[in-house]
Amino acid sequence: MGELWKLSLAEMHDLLRGKSISSVELTQSYLDRIKAVESDIKAYITICEDVALKQAEQADIRIAKGDCQKLTGIPFQIKDLIATKGIKTTCGSKMLEDYVPVFNATCVERLAGVGAVVLGKGNMDEFGMGSSCENSAFYPTKNPWDKDRIPGGSSGGGAAAVAAGEAAYAIGSDTGGSIRQPAAMCGIVGLKPTYGLVSRYGLVAYASSFDQVGPMTRNVQDCAAILEVISGHDEFDSTSLPRQVPSYSDSLDGNIAGVRLGIPEEYFLDGMESGVRERVNSAIETLKEMGAIIVPVSLPTTKYALACYYILAPSECSANLARYDGVKYGYSYQDTEDMWEAMGVTRSRGFGMEVKRRIMLGTYALSSGYYDAFYLKAQKVRTLIRNDFDSVFQQVDALIAPTSPVVAFEHGDRTDDPVRMYSIDVCTLPVNIAGLPAVSVPCGLSDGLPVGLQIIGPHFSEGNILNIAYSYERNTEWSKFVPVMN
Ligand code: GLN
Repeated sequence: MGELWKLSLAEMHDLLRGKSISSVELTQSYLDRIKAVESDIKAYITICEDVALKQAEQADIRIAKGDCQKLTGIPFQIKDLIATKGIKTTCGSKMLEDYVPVFNATCVERLAGVGAVVLGKGNMDEFGMGSSCENSAFYPTKNPWDKDRIPGGSSGGGAAAVAAGEAAYAIGSDTGGSIRQPAAMCGIVGLKPTYGLVSRYGLVAYASSFDQVGPMTRNVQDCAAILEVISGHDEFDSTSLPRQVPSYSDSLDGNIAGVRLGIPEEYFLDGMESGVRERVNSAIETLKEMGAIIVPVSLPTTKYALACYYILAPSECSANLARYDGVKYGYSYQDTEDMWEAMGVTRSRGFGMEVKRRIMLGTYALSSGYYDAFYLKAQKVRTLIRNDFDSVFQQVDALIAPTSPVVAFEHGDRTDDPVRMYSIDVCTLPVNIAGLPAVSVPCGLSDGLPVGLQIIGPHFSEGNILNIAYSYERNTEWSKFVPVMN
């Protein structure tokens, strides 16, 4: 049946609905693709072939009865910090190496509800902490565009799988850029929804006031279709908002004439690679030619965002990760005299270096005597950053910025310098600080490596930012570019 994995969701859906192919055939074509390339890419922690084929059979039964929704029978990958009933959910950590959840995350339930097919669990930086997928306790993922390079992180497995045709789409999570940045580095589309739009029930917590679940896809239409299924109120997540979910697909009319797009000067930094700058500037020109009104704007507190995030996120992580004490679940070292020693050994062996660094940073920022100077101050800065966005969105409909100031770099390039690693999140994490939605869409290549264009909107403007991304995508060829793998 040729290379089915190259099709868009809409094309796969048409073939399935018209019964030209079955979900079992489609799923098998993805499993074959995984067999062919996975040893090179390492995008998966767990591949669940049997579960996938069983779900595909169920989907075919549904389709035979005339129930073929947009995602029915289409195989996807899910990040390994999202709970999947009966399937290992390791969070990329030794701590949860053998953890098998007894429940599904809400987003998994919703996708199962429309008959989607789970291929397996995506590789990632441990507990979502990282920007390169090199902090996985198991192995790093390779970028399909150049296997010597990182795929971005932390949802690097998802981005690499979609780019390499090892999944039709992936579900990731984004705390400071983990969907958008790997999407940019692997040349795919990634959306971080508004805080509260998608339920986090079953998403293992990293930094709870930042975390969001979202889609990683080959094009914008696919992204809208998935968002429609996974978003909406969930009584199991107290931060999920009781709002009606619009049809995001209907927002994609391809017309951005008169749309006001702000260009925030602070996102075009000195440290930005010239190839990225060129691609993003040329995308802005294209948007202008398409009828958008380009408005230079300023978000002056952006310069504090990196410091603010790297105090608040580790603080929340130090509290969230306190539960891994070797008692209730996860890795447990018990060959000691007393409980305290057992807990110490469990945590020092179960967690990797970066996670330990974050726990120490966060515990320090929260400790008495330092709380006011670090945590409290960072919370106040968070409000200022949010205020900046609020006032700029009085003038413009959305903001245009690079997703990452750099393209995918070589493995090992930044691992021994954590601050250099953190600094590449500078364009993505302000969005999480303010709880906003943002999408990354491919906008070209720099030295043969993908560059991402980031479109940031006010809260709940997913329909609008997706339409801007869609309009841009339709006017350019970039999303058709796929890595040549050999
Ligand atoms: N790179 C950022 C961090 O390490 C963001 C990660 C994420 O979004 N999960 O915290």
